[in-house]
Amino acid sequence: VTSPVECPTCGGPARDLPADPRQAVKCRWCGTAFERSTAEETLKRLHGEIRDWLRKTAGVEGAASTSSIDVATRTFLFNERILPGLRRDVRRALDEHIGDVDGAPILTPALLSYLPGFTREDALLVSKREQILGLRSLRARLEAEEVAAFATTSADRLALETLRADIDRTIIASNASYALASGIALGAELARTNLAALDGSTSAVAEVADPAAATVTRAFAVRSKALIATIDAVRVTPPDQAALDGAAARLEETAQWLLTADTRDLRGALTSTGIQRDATAARVIASIAQAIRGTTIGVVAMLDTLAPLASYLAHCTRGKDAPWVVFAWAQALAALSTGAGIPAVADTSWVNAAVGAACGNGERPARVDVVLEPFWVYSARMTKAEGFFFVSGKQYDGVVLVPAATSHEGTLLVPREHPMASHIDRALAAPSRPGLPVDSAQVGPEAGRLCARGTLRARGLKNVVLGEGQLVYFPVAFAVIVSGTGQRTISMSPLGPVPADAASAVGRAEALTRAAIGLGRGLATVSA
Ligand SMILES: [Zn+2]
Repeated sequence: VTSPVECPTCGGPARDLPADPRQAVKCRWCGTAFERSTAEETLKRLHGEIRDWLRKTAGVEGAASTSSIDVATRTFLFNERILPGLRRDVRRALDEHIGDVDGAPILTPALLSYLPGFTREDALLVSKREQILGLRSLRARLEAEEVAAFATTSADRLALETLRADIDRTIIASNASYALASGIALGAELARTNLAALDGSTSAVAEVADPAAATVTRAFAVRSKALIATIDAVRVTPPDQAALDGAAARLEETAQWLLTADTRDLRGALTSTGIQRDATAARVIASIAQAIRGTTIGVVAMLDTLAPLASYLAHCTRGKDAPWVVFAWAQALAALSTGAGIPAVADTSWVNAAVGAACGNGERPARVDVVLEPFWVYSARMTKAEGFFFVSGKQYDGVVLVPAATSHEGTLLVPREHPMASHIDRALAAPSRPGLPVDSAQVGPEAGRLCARGTLRARGLKNVVLGEGQLVYFPVAFAVIVSGTGQRTISMSPLGPVPADAASAVGRAEALTRAAIGLGRGLATVSA
């Protein structure tokens, strides 16, 4: 018997199997080990199911009897019974039991499921793994000789192939996503194999069947190539920044192009969503690479460290900001674990006096934590029509600070001539090793910009022009102040009180420190 052997788990074709039916081989598509004997038993069972299905659906007794049925009857049975049944089962399996697979990201679901705009359910290529592998029996039906015998015209055969292509794509995309969920380093080879198969695997079918489907298929091909490029770019040390940026840009363009292309059906829009999500993931990975430039940390080690911290990203609400927020986290982790520099205003000499001054009669500080808190800093140019400090209509230059670790409103405006403005310039020009725990950003530069504009407008400032947002860290003192009657918490910056949730800020800073120690240990092991 020379019937092709398929992996009993994912149905991927197996080749170069050992002669010994009991010797285990590893599936090159899903990574599961299996024996030839198990694969052959599974195929036998599936074909039994297919014959049962044919008997129920078309009232025929399988391949053996097809030759006795004339062509007209076969064509009739195929179009009236078999094809509608297959279509219904495929749509039901895909749409009802699995969901919008084409809208799901393939790349790093473990990290993405915590990013803004994503939910855990979006990682359905991983979370619905069992249902997706269940498609294997449906695919066996679509490629069975017993069924193919009824597809007498090329249109009928194409209809079968189109359905099979939908299932193939889902299983292959899930194989790739599932492999990457176990870590880019571990899953790279399996993911690469599957993505390469996804690139163009169904193009022949789509080109003939439907130009709209062909458009979607072309987008899939670009997607697969860009994802392979991303995986390859992070596996080298240092990561290939240009390749990462290029892959992210290509994914973004493809998602855009697909939205405007004529795909007629929902699938085009859905696939565009999936590709856009992969683009965000690729941007996140590219910004991690940028954050660790010049350090000994690899992207893969940083991704592994970030993933368990990602639940802290809950407050980051703008998808566009996600790569920036992750950049900030990676930068802080790199600085804490390797002593690399971050742009920080280091002076804490004001803390004691400021906390002392904040205590009223009978109050004393019971605990003071000083943490480097991130702020988005924008150079600002604006005019003020009227007011106490400014001459009417005079142009005004300053620096706008927006707390990046909290979603609370708290924009600070520093005049250009204020000493703090030059401290900020120095921090940006010469990043320094953090001497304090570091908190992580929750708000990206776009959200920060909106916040700054709103505050400045509310203060009567007009013609506001804000420069590029840059992340700068300032020491913030979180003090628990107790008195005879109770306690309160204050948050002080060198520029006065700032809005902050002390418990979460200190908690996040501690979590980052712990993660950085773990990362540093990992690096020590690698270099040893
Ligand atoms: Zn497999």
